[in-house]
Amino acid sequence: MRDNLKQCPFCGDDRVKMDDDGWESIGQPARQWHVVCWGGCGARSGTYNSESEAVTTWNTRASDPMAEAMATHIEDIDRELNIFGFVSPTTLVNAKSTAKSFREATK
Ligand SMILES: [Zn+2]
Repeated sequence: MRDNLKQCPFCGDDRVKMDDDGWESIGQPARQWHVVCWGGCGARSGTYNSESEAVTTWNTRASDPMAEAMATHIEDIDRELNIFGFVSPTTLVNAKSTAKSFREATK
């Protein structure tokens, strides 16, 4: 983890990194930045005109209560799959309910 980026709010992984649109090899400096989770979930922030803005926005999302709730649901699902080999209907219903609220809140 670099740039003081918080762990991924969706999967909890800390393999989170800054990416930009620059091409150092041909001398084109970066003008836009975004944050990507390399932990497998592939979450990606929006694109920002400064590195610090991308960091701030990512870290704000990381402490978003709804994102925290989704991360907890994913951990529950993962745990149940590992222990039982299936996910209980209650866990799925709770996760779907939070996901629906999340979509409505971010429209
Ligand atoms: Zn992730």
